[in-house]
Formats: sequence, structure tokens, C-alpha cells
Amino acid sequence: MKITAFNVYQVDLPLKEGRYSWADGKYVDVFDCTVVEIETDEGVSGYGEVCPLGPFYLPAYGPGVRTGISELAPHLIGADPSEIGKINLIMDAALLGHPYVKSGIDMACWDLLGKRAGLPVCDLLGGRHGESVALYRAISQQAPEAMAKNIAGYRDEGYTKFQLKVGGDADDDIARIHATRKILDRGEILIADANTGWLMHEAARVADAVAKLDVYIEQPCKSYEESLTIRRRTARPFILDENIDGLQALLRAHGDGAMDAINLKISKVGGLTKARQIRDLCVSLGIAMTIEDSWGGDIITAAIAHLAHSTPERFRFSSTDFNSYVTVQTATGAPKRKNGYMKAGTAPGLGIVPDFDSLGAPTARYSQSN
Ligand code: MG
Repeated sequence: MKITAFNVYQVDLPLKEGRYSWADGKYVDVFDCTVVEIETDEGVSGYGEVCPLGPFYLPAYGPGVRTGISELAPHLIGADPSEIGKINLIMDAALLGHPYVKSGIDMACWDLLGKRAGLPVCDLLGGRHGESVALYRAISQQAPEAMAKNIAGYRDEGYTKFQLKVGGDADDDIARIHATRKILDRGEILIADANTGWLMHEAARVADAVAKLDVYIEQPCKSYEESLTIRRRTARPFILDENIDGLQALLRAHGDGAMDAINLKISKVGGLTKARQIRDLCVSLGIAMTIEDSWGGDIITAAIAHLAHSTPERFRFSSTDFNSYVTVQTATGAPKRKNGYMKAGTAPGLGIVPDFDSLGAPTARYSQSN
């Protein structure tokens, strides 16, 4: 099997709720999503998707995905997409860093490998664990009462895990956490995710004020060192996300006892191949994971489901069904949430078929002839 061409599509994904707001007053109304199609000499195509959370969440931005693919495509045409280890070596040799750019290509190669093998990606990543994957709902930053009301609504849809977007004013955040924990029952999970938004003194105040509550603290401060300081001052279960951007960061944080769980985002670490490596290491080290991505549509939701469903159940802290947050469909066949859970598909590859009506014409095509 040889790669003969890349087609790149850009699609806007508006939010059902209108706006997604998190720390430091950051928000996104419409997500800039890229779908990459890899054509092969065997007539079968593979698909991947990359959707940064705006240009100011991680070092990633929508147009950067497409520019990065223009850089990588000439190096990959003629390569065998089912040799995913080699594909990753080629990408890392041709372009230093920029993991999010590589994520969609790596995802499309897994889709092709699955189609070639006649197996769902979940089976190739380790096998299906359990019946389904539990999901969390991200609760956009608003006034405390509005966030509690949103939680009540999503709970009626079957969710039992809620990730509050905090990282704003410390007093407001304390009120947000109290107002939302109050309406939740035992067994329901509440995560206060500051998304790097607090300074250390603010994080320390919030952690103290919620010390008696059943709540997880996620990524309180911007740097690893600041967050580690807070970790050492609170007994709340602790999750690192933005600082865990690869294997080296995970190993260092594990050595420091810096967290109880991590948030593993596929594009943050460069695709399913590297996410699987980190996932497997976390399982060996006893670290639970939220398995997801920065944002996404149907193709990313399918990829998340395959990675999550192939992870032993005890280590799956939660996952996300991004396709239920947005109004535009990028593909059919992706998992659909049922009562707060989703399942990886059983069709070969990612199990999706792109919705070309939504995607429109490619914004770029790279092939042997150009
Ligand atoms: Mg997070």
C-alpha cells in the first residue's frame, strides 16, 4: 500500500451552546477543524481530523494544521501508510515538533491500517475492554448558578461526570465549585479544571476552600513547577493536562508524584500512535486517564472512542463525545452518546464515512504529480 495523495478539507464547527468559555476570559464560538484524506494506490482512503481549541489553548491553531500538512505531504507520498511507526519517523524527521499537525495524518494511517486488516482500530490498539466508555461533560464558564443549572440539564441526559471550567476569579471559582457539588450525588464526579488560569496564591485559596468537598483539581497553574507546588499543598485528587504534552513530561511528572491522573489528548501528543504509547505506560504506572482531544467533530470522536475503548476500564477516568457539542457533522458512523456513554465502532478502521457535503471541496491537494 502506498500513499498517492492528500486532500485537505476545512470545516467550521459551530457550538450548540453558542459559546465555549474557559480560563482567563478565553472563548470559542466556531471551531476551525481540518479533515485530512489520505488516498492510496489500492483505491482505499483513510481519514483523520484535527481541531484545536482556538489559537490560545495549546501551541496549535486551525490554519497551522493545514500549513503543516503542506510541509509534510511531499515527504509521505510513496510511503506505506500501514507502516505507522515508519510514518511517524518520517514526520518527526521532516518537521520538528508541531505534534497537532501530525495527529490527523497518523489518525488517517490507523484508519487505513484497520481497513487493510479488516479490523476496527480499537482491536488494533489492544482490544475492546468492557461494554462502553463513560463520558464527562465540560461545563462552560459562567456564573455559579448557571453552571449548576447546566449540570442538572446534562445529568438528565445521562452524564455522571462533569468538568467545570474554572481558572477565573478565585472567589467566583470557589462559588462555582460549591454550587455545583451541592447538586451532585455521591458517585457523581466533579472536576474543577482551571486550564492553567490561576496564579499559585489563587490556586491555593481555591484548593483550601474546597478541601472538604469531593472534587478533583485539574491543571491549576500555567507551568509544571507552579502546579506541582499546588499539588504538594492539597489533598484533593489531582490531574495534569496542558503540562503533559508528551512522554518525557509524563515520566518527569510521575517521578515527582505530580498527579493522580492525566488528561491525554490525541493531538496534544501527536496522534494515536504516541497517545497509545503514553496510554500503555500510564496503565503500567497506575495512572488513570481522561482520554480525549482538544476539540473535534465526528472523526475525532471516533478516534477517541477507539483509544478509550481499548484501554482497561479501571484506567479510563473519562472521555469526551465532541460530536454532541457541535452543530455540523463531519462524518457518518461515529459513536453517538447514549446515557452518558459511547462505544467504539465495529467496522474496519475508524468506522466512519466522511460527510463530503459538509466538508465541501478540498482546500488543498498534494499528489505525486504536484
Ligand atoms: Mg483539562
